[in-house]
Amino acid sequence: MVIKQWALSDFDIGRPLGKGKFGNVYLAREKEKGIVVALKILFKSQLVKSNVEHQLIREIEIQAHLSHPNILRMYNYFHDEKKIILILEYALGGELFKELQRKKRFDEPTSAKYIFQVSDALNYCHSKKVIHRDIKPENILIGSNGEVKIADFGWSVHAGKSRRETMCGTLDYLPPEMITRAKYDEAVDYWSVGVLCYEFLVGKPPFETKTKEDTYKRIRNISYVFPSFVSAGARDLIGKLLVRDPKQRINLVQVMEHHWVMSHVRREAIDRASQSSDPNENEEDQFEE
Ligand code: AMP
Repeated sequence: MVIKQWALSDFDIGRPLGKGKFGNVYLAREKEKGIVVALKILFKSQLVKSNVEHQLIREIEIQAHLSHPNILRMYNYFHDEKKIILILEYALGGELFKELQRKKRFDEPTSAKYIFQVSDALNYCHSKKVIHRDIKPENILIGSNGEVKIADFGWSVHAGKSRRETMCGTLDYLPPEMITRAKYDEAVDYWSVGVLCYEFLVGKPPFETKTKEDTYKRIRNISYVFPSFVSAGARDLIGKLLVRDPKQRINLVQVMEHHWVMSHVRREAIDRASQSSDPNENEEDQFEE
């Protein structure tokens, strides 16, 4: 089998899609097959300067091995003297975070649908021994059918047998066991799904305060309140995820089967029953080595 060596000249580069810390993302079309992708172009010098090459390599290795409808595909990657280029699935709907800012908050059917999809994707990651550790709206994109795509694996780790003790992730989404630097496992992602669900419905995360110390305190005390418009079903789900003891949190299968999630997802499925399939569904085969 001949392994294709990719080069930038294999692509027509289109408009910039966004700017990251270490480079830019462009819309691009692969010349031979005409497949639309996103190219993430990272500068080696900046990666080395910030000492994140190892993190990037980890991110690449993890994402390249995952294949799930709610995880942004990384088809391949290549590098030249100065740059590392990631060939990514193009997420037509852009950033979930921007969508949330635009709408202020999501309605319950939308929130439930997103929570189902994120849970499905994370459950798949966990089955591959990958813990994400940094789930938040900023790390989620939206695909061509309005589905979520988990996009950022910079903080995720391959979990070995022993549980990890590194402190990482975003403050508002940190579970108590990471604040106290206790050992943790994939239940850190269950907690994040609870925080995410709250943020979708309310427009801000549950433990947000002005100072880091106060946020830590509120997380440690699990101190949050629901605005009156949040339904009993959603409160029940969030309450079963924002639990101090990781072992007492409901798992992701239970999230997907939760009555509040199910009731909205079933309705959505009925509404979408006659929808056509993804026109780009064969893309991945064409980018495999
Ligand atoms: P990042 O460096 O991953 O933070 O990407 C910077 C920005 O580019 C993101 O916030 C998105 O707005 C955009 N972006 C990144 N990857 C994609 C993609 N695969 N499809 C569409 N937009 C993307």
